Amino acid sequence: MSRRRIRLLILTGLLSIGGTLVLQLLWVRQAYDLNERQFNDRVVVALTEVVEEIQWMRGDLAVVDPVIQLASNYFVANINDTLHPFLLETLLEQAFAAVNLDQAIEYGIYDCFSDSIVYGGRLGADVVVAGGPSKAALPRFDRDGHYFGILFPEKTAGIVMSLKRWLLASILQLLVLGTFVYAVVLVLRQKRLSEVRDDFIANMTHEFKTPIATIEAAVRLLERDEVDGDASLRAKYRDLIGGENQRMRRQVDRVMEISTLDGGGNSDLKLERLDLLDIVRDAVGATEIFARDAEGEIRFDCKLAHAPVIADRVHLTNVLCNLLDNAVRYAEKSPRIAVELHIKNSPGEQGVWSVVVRDNGIGIPTEHLGRIFDRFFRVPTGDRHDVKGFGLGLHYVKSMVEAHGGTIRCESKPGFGSTFTVKLQKAPDA
Ligand code: ADP
Repeated sequence: MSRRRIRLLILTGLLSIGGTLVLQLLWVRQAYDLNERQFNDRVVVALTEVVEEIQWMRGDLAVVDPVIQLASNYFVANINDTLHPFLLETLLEQAFAAVNLDQAIEYGIYDCFSDSIVYGGRLGADVVVAGGPSKAALPRFDRDGHYFGILFPEKTAGIVMSLKRWLLASILQLLVLGTFVYAVVLVLRQKRLSEVRDDFIANMTHEFKTPIATIEAAVRLLERDEVDGDASLRAKYRDLIGGENQRMRRQVDRVMEISTLDGGGNSDLKLERLDLLDIVRDAVGATEIFARDAEGEIRFDCKLAHAPVIADRVHLTNVLCNLLDNAVRYAEKSPRIAVELHIKNSPGEQGVWSVVVRDNGIGIPTEHLGRIFDRFFRVPTGDRHDVKGFGLGLHYVKSMVEAHGGTIRCESKPGFGSTFTVKLQKAPDA
């Protein structure tokens, strides 16, 4: 599928799902407002009923503006005289039942003679809760005369609960959006992988052609009689074959990197007891030719006689080849690469091999250091240099080192070079 079509598909999907979600949320908001208005109306009706009942019992005149809403969940009802809490509770229960309101309430009765709330209580959804609220909890209403205040502590939660079907629908919608976004990410990643693979296969067939043709020609030349007597010519062709062979090896390394794309698990590691010293020497030997091509050198310093390790020979050699290869590729001038192998014996790191690859290359800016082991990550360099790559080498290196139970670290200073340190556990004594 073309990029344009994928983009169009994603955009349409996002717009339609996102649009319905926004509409849904707007509806929920409207439904909430409507429910709240209905709730308030019912409270005013019920409290007006209570006030009228009290006035009627006492034979008093009707009160003007009997109910006032002071806050979203707090109402006060004006009365002409003091009131017994028991009577108030009974009337409240009846009035709220009549308008179908079964929320918990807290009430307080205000006495204007003592200028304080003289009684506070709490009515559950259908039971009177012992203890009641502290009298101070109900806000005072700055007014002359008697009144009682009613607070609905669970008003918002109650309204939200009455909208649960709407909310559930919105959550499902959100889930659909999440699944869509996740599917898009997977499709894009899959597309990137297949692009890299196609690119890679095209590159690789091209890159293999040259060494194969060169080796073929060199072998034919070596077969000629006149070469037999000329040692320097023989050495020249031998070097040519060796060089091209290493170039093909580099391509095989890339095949290994690609293989880590589908999970790169450690299931196919062929673990055996090896000498890390040999592995490092092999990797140095395989990369030396590229360093020499670039008029540089690789030095390997090691005072150890053996370095036993349990590892997969092919993958571990590739790990080191990759690091050395990068050290050569990302050099600004002639690459001077130093490789060291030590044993760590500090209390925290007993019997740990440390392989250090230090180069004098272009270095890696600090802000990118944390990402160099990520799949497909390449340090953006503008057009400062033209090193081809897929951003898979270091990802492969890290996955493999970790599959061997080891760690890898990089320190770098742009313009001065980079140092990669691989740590691997020493094999137990045989
Ligand atoms: P690539 O195939 O692009 O080289 P890698 O995963 O091997 O992929 O490296 C990721 C990026 O890290 C490279 O694009 C490069 O910018 C940076 N990098 C890796 N090794 C070195 C090094 N020795 N010196 C400087 N930069 C490096």
